[in-house]
Parts: sequence; structure tokens; C-alpha cells
Amino acid sequence: MSKVQSSVGPRALRLVPLLLRWFAANARDLPWRRTRDPYAIWISEVMLQQTQVRTVVPYFERWMRELPDISSLAAAREQRVLKLWEGLGYYRRARNLRRAAREILRVHDGQFPRDFDAMLALPGVGRYTAGAIASIAFDVPHPILDGNVTRVLARLFAIRQSPRANPVQKRMWSLAGHLVEAAGGSARRVRLDGVGGRCRAVNRCSALNQSLMELGALVCTPRAPRCDECPVKLCCDARRLGLVELLPVVAKRPQTAARQAIAVAAVRGERVLVRKRPQGGQNGGLWEFPNVEARPGEKGIQEALRTFQPELRGGALSAICTVRHSITRHRITVHAFLAKADRIRPQAGEVWVGRARLAGLPFASAHARIRDALLSRFDAR
Ligand code: SF4
Repeated sequence: MSKVQSSVGPRALRLVPLLLRWFAANARDLPWRRTRDPYAIWISEVMLQQTQVRTVVPYFERWMRELPDISSLAAAREQRVLKLWEGLGYYRRARNLRRAAREILRVHDGQFPRDFDAMLALPGVGRYTAGAIASIAFDVPHPILDGNVTRVLARLFAIRQSPRANPVQKRMWSLAGHLVEAAGGSARRVRLDGVGGRCRAVNRCSALNQSLMELGALVCTPRAPRCDECPVKLCCDARRLGLVELLPVVAKRPQTAARQAIAVAAVRGERVLVRKRPQGGQNGGLWEFPNVEARPGEKGIQEALRTFQPELRGGALSAICTVRHSITRHRITVHAFLAKADRIRPQAGEVWVGRARLAGLPFASAHARIRDALLSRFDAR
């Protein structure tokens, strides 16, 4: 018997019923909890990576209305898929969903594979996503380990090393595996009091995995966890040892660097000049306003505007908005300007688009905010 097995075995028997009972009474009524469709669960799990539940709900509902199944996703044009994803960031996830849907049509006759290794072979499907689909859609006791589960396990078992370290990851997957296996030992289903629809009763592996995620989201939160209300407080090592605020160990983040850029929306009537980012690069295939990086300070902005396009020099420029966003360790401030551009000539790759097309194109996140501000200006005219 491994060290992990011997330490988690008896505790799993105590933890599992506590977690299942709590989840039955506290599970939120989320749209993806009203279905067992592996496609819907897959879409929700990919959207939820790095993104909060309340942000994902409207995206998920719109996606399921427009692309309700694998074949509709496989047949959709990439621009449509990116548009449905616009604002969620990490656009590679959306592209991979479409690639995987095509793969499922080609290799699996359009049926989402039940086999775990076949799931892992799909583009963009890693161990976490496959574990979630296997346990929630197919009742198979595969573990999951996302940020919420990692935090809960680090505290429950007082793990004092960084969860990013490989041996710690391995241990956590093992702990999560023992818990879900202990839950799967009975065929009894768990009835979720607060969830509507036909899927209120879920299998125990699904409930156990989701209970860990839900506990991390609602109770064992990154800051100010609500230990007094926690269903497993009597089994929690971090609480017993006074380590709750110290765990999980967070690796020191690399310093962020501030950068700034200008973007110019050249407008002629209600037509606006935009360009598509090259495929293969960052945000490839998404649209943006012509932009250029500027040196720090107000002087840098003025300098960038002067060098941006000579044709703009004589035109009227006005500020639209300022957008702040982060890419990896860069905090970028984009100053967006509107230019009356009667004389401007499009550069290579730039095209004039009318208002309706502007609204329908998928834009990179920062530029989507500029586009929305510009459309509001048009509306206010
Ligand atoms: Fe998290 Fe506190 Fe519960 Fe421990 S007792 S699992 S630290 S909420």
C-alpha cells in the first residue's frame, strides 16, 4: 500500500459522505448541471478554465443555442466560433474545441468517446477536462484537479510545498483519485436539492468531484475561507495546525512590466478601418484596430501618434477610451483614438468595414472593448 493510500484511506471514508451531503444541499443550479450530455459538459469545462462561473453562464447558454452539438461545432466557421468566444480570452481553447469536434466526427462517428485515452487524444483535452467528462457524463471514477480542488486538498492535507512542483502534483492527483474512488463504491445516486431539470440525481463520482470544486468556489476560497461553515472542518489539517491562511503555497509571481500602446479607429462615415491578426501568432484570426506600441508617458503617446500614419496628421483625432489588460506578465494600457479619415489609405491587410460587420467580427479582448465604445458613439449620434 502506498504512503498516500494509507494516509487517505480511512480519511476518505470520513470525508466522502460529508462532502456528498454538503454538495447535495448546496450545489448551485448551473446550466451545465441540468444535463448529462458529454458535449455540453465538455464545453462548460473548457470555458470554466481560468474563468469565473458567473462570466461563463451567458457564454455557455449562447454557445449551446448556436452550436448545440458536435456536428454543428464541427461545421461552424472558425470566425463564428471565435465570435462566440470573444471576451473569454485564451482563444486557442475555442480553436481546439472546433478541431476536436471535427476529430470526433472523423474518428468516432460523431459520438463523444467514452474511453479516457481517446478523450485525451483530442486536441485541447487534458487530464482535468477528460476526468470531468468521464466522471460527470459517464459515471467513471476519474479524478479532477483544478485550482479550486488544489486549494481544498492543499488545506485538507496541509500540503506545505508548492502545488506546481511535480511530486506535489502527483500526490494531489493521487489524493483526488482516492477520494473519487471511495465515492464510487456505491451505486446510490446523490440528489441535488437546488438543481432543477431532469438531472437532479447524479452519480457519486460526479458529485464528489463537483463537491470539491464547489467547496473551493464557495467556502474554501482563496481569501477569507469560511471554515466555520465548512462541512469537513473537523478533518482539516490546515485548520487544526493554524495554516489555513498560508496554504496553498503560492509560488512568487514574476514581476509584471507596464507597457502602453495606441490604437486608432479611422472612421469614414460609419465605416471603420480594421485588420485581422495573422494566423499562428498571438490572438491569430482575431480582429483589431491598427495599433502600435508607445514609449512610456504622455510624450510616448504623442510620439506614437505622430509616427502612426502620416495621413492622420491633418485629421481630427479624439480619444475614445483607455483599456487596460494583461498578457502573461505584461500589463498593457491601450489608448484608443478616433480619427476622421477622409484621406487615409488602408495599409496592407487593413479593410474598411461597415457598422454591422464591425459588430459581427471576433475581436481580441482589448480591441472588443474599443469596438464596443465606438459602437456606442455611433448609437449616440
Ligand atoms: Fe478549507 Fe477551512 Fe474547510 Fe479546511 S476547514 S477545507 S481550510 S474551508
